[in-house]
Amino acid sequence: MKLLRARLLSPATRGGLQDLPDGLLALDEEGRIADVGPAMDLLQRFAGHPVEDLRPWCLLPGLVDLHTHLPQHEAVAMDGQELLPWLETFIFPAEARFAEVEVARAAAARFFQALLRSGTTLAVVYSTVHEAATEAAFQEAQRCGIRLVMGKVMMDQHAPEALRETPALSLDASARLCEAWHGCDGGRLAYAFTPRFAPSCSRELMRGAADRAERYGAYLQTHLSENLQELDWVRELFPEAESYTDVYRRMGLLGPRTLLAHGIHLGRQERDLLRETGAHLAHCPRSNAFLASGIMPLRRWMEEGLSVGLGTDVGAGPSLSMWAEAAFACMASKLRWAERRNLAAHLRKRSEAPGCGDVVALIDPEAEAPLTPAEAFRLATLGGAKALGLEDRIGSLEVGKEADLVGVDPQVVDPLPERAPESAERLLSRLLYRERPGMVKRTWVRGKVCWKAP
Ligand SMILES: [Zn+2]
Repeated sequence: MKLLRARLLSPATRGGLQDLPDGLLALDEEGRIADVGPAMDLLQRFAGHPVEDLRPWCLLPGLVDLHTHLPQHEAVAMDGQELLPWLETFIFPAEARFAEVEVARAAAARFFQALLRSGTTLAVVYSTVHEAATEAAFQEAQRCGIRLVMGKVMMDQHAPEALRETPALSLDASARLCEAWHGCDGGRLAYAFTPRFAPSCSRELMRGAADRAERYGAYLQTHLSENLQELDWVRELFPEAESYTDVYRRMGLLGPRTLLAHGIHLGRQERDLLRETGAHLAHCPRSNAFLASGIMPLRRWMEEGLSVGLGTDVGAGPSLSMWAEAAFACMASKLRWAERRNLAAHLRKRSEAPGCGDVVALIDPEAEAPLTPAEAFRLATLGGAKALGLEDRIGSLEVGKEADLVGVDPQVVDPLPERAPESAERLLSRLLYRERPGMVKRTWVRGKVCWKAP
């Protein structure tokens, strides 16, 4: 039995936060949480076992990044374009370099270290179209101990020749990788069939991906409704479909193991489809701001019962920090709310204008209440775990769960480091908004230390 003493802070399964200012976490030999509670109680129960006293650190459940791109890690911050030209100008050339397997292997090692260093214990990742590069990346993940869901990107149209495959080759390579890695090491590594997005995939490729994912019980991931030009293009390419989401429904891609990045511009029927099929959204607000795609109506989507987690979407997102992503999710929702409130107030002042009341009702700022740091933290942990069907295994500090943990020193982000311990909400707010290098001290996956501050 391994005993860790620290402040313990976690989302509670039934809602709200669980905060133990002087807590003890008991980990068994398999890296599961055997007990959790106030140190004063548990120290007696486990008398005789050595205790590692980590105070004043705070232990939280490891962060879950629901959407990011390995080959784009070294092509971040390429500003100046919206989605489609940005892909052509910066991203496809960066991905083409992964044809060389040793380039891919070295990049994967750096990428996983950067994730662990920022407290992310589980990432859902797009590799490139290259089978060998994806294989090398899985080998690196196996070695470094991170929890990973990853897939080889699938593209058979509207992509540069170097990145374009035939449907048969793409499906066969994906199936081989899935057979080798899905469920590996007790489920620590998993496979996601990864058709990039509707414009770069033929109907045959998308149907084949859905079929293989079902056959292997693997995940499926793709992008949905990010940018208005992209929406126009999808409408042109798939005139038979009623909406972007309906394209994926027709291809059999929607289900409880499906992860869809973005989902900003969704009509009511599309949201109904997502709820009915149990598909999940990865909200990536920094990427959406960077590519000027828009601000997802996160509060509405959550109130309507859509399943949402958070993703960094590197390289449109500037870093792999889920702290910064969660903080930006709060700020983006505040901006959305404030803009709508300001516009409604402006229109009300001119209420003599015909139809003004209708417009104000449509804007409805009250339906867009800003996200709180505690809610953002829940999305970044338990929300991601739920989207992957892993909420019984990870996402919070509860007995029986696997110990994926991040240890942070809250004094590093406090302008008054000697201040008395604060409420859980205040502490979380500071950790998200003021995240900085040196804050994360240690990262554990399944009870094993995978990264340690030098
Ligand atoms: Zn993406």
